[in-house]
Amino acid sequence: MENKSILVIGAGAVGSAFLESSIGMFKKIGIFDGDIVTKSNLITQPFYKECDFSSPVSKTAFAIKKLNSFGSSTEYKGYERYFTEKDFETMKEYDLIADFTDNINSRLIINEGCVKEGKAAVFASLNEKEAFLYFYRNSACFNCLFRNSIGHVKEGCESVVSAPEKEFVSFLKENILEFASNKAEGGQIILFNLSNKKVLSSMLKKDNECEVCVKHMTKKVEDGFLQVCSSGIKFSYGKHIDLKKLSSVLPGSRLYNEFLIFNQNNKSVLISLDGDFLFTGYTKEEAGKLITSFVS
Ligand SMILES: [Zn+2]
Repeated sequence: MENKSILVIGAGAVGSAFLESSIGMFKKIGIFDGDIVTKSNLITQPFYKECDFSSPVSKTAFAIKKLNSFGSSTEYKGYERYFTEKDFETMKEYDLIADFTDNINSRLIINEGCVKEGKAAVFASLNEKEAFLYFYRNSACFNCLFRNSIGHVKEGCESVVSAPEKEFVSFLKENILEFASNKAEGGQIILFNLSNKKVLSSMLKKDNECEVCVKHMTKKVEDGFLQVCSSGIKFSYGKHIDLKKLSSVLPGSRLYNEFLIFNQNNKSVLISLDGDFLFTGYTKEEAGKLITSFVS
């Protein structure tokens, strides 16, 4: 893990506890928060207890100073502002994005950035009864989950009245480290019951109508075409394709070891295991629609 970088967005109750628990575990940690530390924060965020309140200090600046004082080899980088669409570019510097904002508007913006930039992410929130984690990596995005669970995914963190329990913080850290080391897949929802310590998890399927997934997939497809001859178009998806699964939903397609051929009305598509598509006889629009349906 010492070679990975993570962008922590939100250094409140959950974010600050995570930062303190993960000292020395990442090569680089970015911290995004526009809040000023206030005395009322100390109830839920003991991380800020050494703060000198004589002059205003941002959570980000305080966190960087405190974390650097532990002398680990981690490089810390601070962003003393709230995350907006303008910050999507910043995500490119990191391997993993951790959203601890627990605010639905920020969360949806962060999610869009992750889908756009193709960044793996964890979305975490906490209330007095339950901790919620959602992992994204080339999978259903947070908006896929949100648009299908109105009323279940709640807005805001008003119910947090005490600092996160130690057990929760280590649970959070372990799951994030496992995900960061590619041992866990994207699309996973984990609920941790804080009173009986039971863990519930399930996998979420991509919603084919999710505005965020559709928008960025369409854009990626539009940008990815290469005309190879008058009737041939190539598209590189850049990811492994499960040909067996794809052949089962394409009646009449023929599966060979490393590629799949699909013929339809004198048009054909050759799909390789490595995610290369060669279309013959299709227009770009038709090919785009097919790819979107293949990979969603
Ligand atoms: Zn989505």
